[in-house]
Amino acid sequence: DASAVMRVRVAALGVAHVLVLAEDHTQARRVEEVRRDFVANVSHELKTPVGGIALLAEAVLDAKDDPEAVARFAARIQVESTRLGRLVQEIVDLSRLQVADTLHEPELVDVGSVLTEAGDRVEVAAGARGIEVHIVPAPDVRVFGDAELLVTAVANLLANAVNYSDAGTRVGVGVRRVGDRVEIAVTDQGQGIPLAEQERIFERFYRVDAARSRATGGTGLGLAIVKHICANHGGEVTVWSEEGRGSTFTITLPVAAPDAVDGPGADPHA
Ligand code: ADP
Repeated sequence: DASAVMRVRVAALGVAHVLVLAEDHTQARRVEEVRRDFVANVSHELKTPVGGIALLAEAVLDAKDDPEAVARFAARIQVESTRLGRLVQEIVDLSRLQVADTLHEPELVDVGSVLTEAGDRVEVAAGARGIEVHIVPAPDVRVFGDAELLVTAVANLLANAVNYSDAGTRVGVGVRRVGDRVEIAVTDQGQGIPLAEQERIFERFYRVDAARSRATGGTGLGLAIVKHICANHGGEVTVWSEEGRGSTFTITLPVAAPDAVDGPGADPHA
């Protein structure tokens, strides 16, 4: 009868409500877990260089009668503190990117200029490691976003390509327009990434080989930052890699509509 049907419906609604609440709760707990993990990871990652610097300072004091040893330890303090500075900066950058899922003041950005600027940033590191970086001329394509963040994203991929490759190999950057999207691909002939690790490398502080990452000054945050920058631009980053052969990281972004204006009230034909 009708009232029985009604009672069943009300009961079902109640169950659904409880399920939704339970799901909210699970979601909230997961967010909290992620936050706690992040704090734990950050303090662990900061303690390592801070501890190292403290030990080196002690070594300097002990070796004060041996100028050569003092110079050696001081140089290492310099390296460690530079890395620490970068780590702190990247933690701040990543926290900002995670909080804001929208861009501050988006503008029209020329993809070619992003690649040139990113290439400039890794030029010295690539030269020092004997790696040639080849950037193919980009088609005339623009995206809507934050130029500085986009340069950071491409530069992070380039820095990895250089860091995880051997001398004498090549790193290439190519751009391809596919419908209303643009793909920026960074390819190296480096050591590659095992299939099982390919998804995890985008996690904060995840490294396939922590020793190598540290030796190259890595923070383990580079790809997490790339991932968030892409997401904030309505795009994504993917990886293709084969161990021993190399890797290709591809950033895909929506192309700016041809009539998009550069900021409020701007006239592209002016
Ligand atoms: P890191 O500072 O350690 O380079 P990332 O977040 O940039 O941190 O990268 C995470 C890990 O992914 C690296 O430690 C490395 O193991 C692996 N990786 C990233 N890019 C490459 C690449 N081009 N070739 C091989 N391994 C890579």
